[in-house]
Amino acid sequence: MVWRCFQCGDSYDDRPAFCAGCGQTGSVYQLGRRARAEIDGALEIATAADLVRQADHVEQLAGCPGVMVGGQALVVLAGPPGSGKSSLATRILDGTPGPVMYVSVEEAPGPSLGQRLARLGVRRPDFFVIGWGDADQVAAVLRQRRCVAVAIDSVQVAHWHARELRHLLAVLPSLRLIVAVSQVNKKGEIAGTNELLHEADVALEVVDLQARLVKTRFSPVQGESNDKPVVFPVLLPVLPSALPSDEVRLQGATVRQLRVVRNALVSSGSQPHRDASLPEPPVGADRG
Ligand SMILES: [Zn+2]
Repeated sequence: MVWRCFQCGDSYDDRPAFCAGCGQTGSVYQLGRRARAEIDGALEIATAADLVRQADHVEQLAGCPGVMVGGQALVVLAGPPGSGKSSLATRILDGTPGPVMYVSVEEAPGPSLGQRLARLGVRRPDFFVIGWGDADQVAAVLRQRRCVAVAIDSVQVAHWHARELRHLLAVLPSLRLIVAVSQVNKKGEIAGTNELLHEADVALEVVDLQARLVKTRFSPVQGESNDKPVVFPVLLPVLPSALPSDEVRLQGATVRQLRVVRNALVSSGSQPHRDASLPEPPVGADRG
């Protein structure tokens, strides 16, 4: 068995307590294939009418301005740890009407996952979260709950391979969208990423909370420009009216702190960056 760090890409024969390459704990996962599951043997069957309808239908992917998807789509989000892939996957699911499922194997369902959901404003009762589960358990819940979309975070840690994801779309009638969250480390691509990008209908590269469209099989709707790159922030702005009152107070405190820092810089003679969103310093302050 081979173990690999998804932060730095170092490999180990046995599971280390922490990664000697980058010093991280909890970043090392086991490479390999998952055990064969019953779902793998399910027959892929469709009608010509279904397939044509899926090919004809194109709509915007939730939470991703300028990104189109068809009636069925495998969407890959690839990027280094902490880049915002999980937040984007959450947003895509939350913007998709109908029961959805988040398979969170890198981060077990618990307080920190709860905080992320709260921060992103996700409170839907039909947004299911699954922790560790094998392929048949995941498929069974997707079927029972008639989920229309599932995100798997990450496919490397959950041991889902590209063709198995495509198979899931083919055998679960309600499922229209799979969001495959894929780790990429600093040494380059990690197990299976090339296969995933090849199999993907849509691939987004996520770096520093910015998403960039790198592959798509679906053209934008007529009249929209085809030549400019599609890039958008993972965390789209939240309107002030949507913020709870304690966050508004926190914002006010932050502005006051920034003003104190700016005044200190001004009086010490260094020139701070102009920021039009900051309130003016009090009358009489030395502008440098
Ligand atoms: Zn490492």
